[in-house]
Amino acid sequence: MTEAYLELQGIHKRFGAFTALDDIHLSIGRGEFVCFLGPSGCGKTTLLRIIAGLETQTAGRIVQAGRDISVLPPGGRDYGIMFQSYALFPNLTVAQNVAYGLVNRRQSRAQVAPRVDELLKLVGLPGSGGKYPAQLSGGQQQRIALARALATSPGLLLLDEPLSALDAIVRVHLRNEIRALQRELGVTTVMVTHDQEEALSVADRIVVMNHGVIEQVGTPMQVYREPASPFVADFVGKVNRLKGVAEGERWFRCGDKRLQCAPGAGADFRAGREVALYLRPEDRVIGAGVRDDDPLRCEGTVRHIEFLGGNCLAEVDVQGMPGQPLQLQYSLNQMDEFGVHEGASVRFALRADRLRVFPM
Ligand code: ATP
Repeated sequence: MTEAYLELQGIHKRFGAFTALDDIHLSIGRGEFVCFLGPSGCGKTTLLRIIAGLETQTAGRIVQAGRDISVLPPGGRDYGIMFQSYALFPNLTVAQNVAYGLVNRRQSRAQVAPRVDELLKLVGLPGSGGKYPAQLSGGQQQRIALARALATSPGLLLLDEPLSALDAIVRVHLRNEIRALQRELGVTTVMVTHDQEEALSVADRIVVMNHGVIEQVGTPMQVYREPASPFVADFVGKVNRLKGVAEGERWFRCGDKRLQCAPGAGADFRAGREVALYLRPEDRVIGAGVRDDDPLRCEGTVRHIEFLGGNCLAEVDVQGMPGQPLQLQYSLNQMDEFGVHEGASVRFALRADRLRVFPM
């Protein structure tokens, strides 16, 4: 991470007897794009609103660019914000909407007009200043909301589920544009989302939240490959969860099968301990890569196939592991090559280096 730009130090938030945020510590680097990711009710919006000064923390400090902003009202803070609902003023033109923050700062018309033109160009809607929000599509309205959030060149851009009201194609398009623009401008950005794919695709780092606490902070790759908890493994991406019992020396029994994990954190458990082994559907070896002496070699029968475009997920009943079918990913080409279809016998090996083990 580069130099810290925004620091959250011990943030607590209670609503009456309910604790919405419990001791949040987080440091965000200058120019970073951070996503708060978690299920509904985990506290991510509350945390964003506290950063914006729209909600007051029960305890804790917020430092932005070295300045303690903990008790500053929203107007005294340096950020632009964009919400899920378009939140444009319907009775103002696009140009007036974008100019709103600039006019509030008493900038002259001569300063405002060229800046509005520049912002509309930046978000890909040049020449739309005379229109009214109702004349624009949802995606276009969100672009205008983004232009408005960026108008004053804030040090911090806050995005509260900005894409969730849009249809899938527009959403993907706009998230890539937001990401590209964020890089170009270098503006430190915090985005709230409950969509793991969105977070994985745009964030420099993801803050995974659950029940008011941070479960993990990491790059998309870290969060996906090295989940810090069963919650993160389940919430981010598809994952297989196998019940097992530790036998010591990184060996685990799952049904009648014995699996050995690679050396590494999380695999050292007292013998007899009940554990859950997590493995992504793509973390398997197939074809010539399967060694006969691999302790994670498996045989099974394909019970069901789910097509996902270029890939499929095959649900496989594994010999020796009754009641614990595995979902394995195959590309369509691999399906042809290895004759993967419902009812087919398949041979594969689980990747020991990718197994993650957690106590039950
Ligand atoms: P969502 O994606 O559904 O918005 P979230 O993770 O953003 O979820 P928050 O909106 O931050 O969650 O809410 C966290 C918890 O705090 C929820 O249980 C919510 O009901 C509660 N909460 C939020 N605002 C208030 C409030 N003003 N009064 C009482 N409880 C609140």
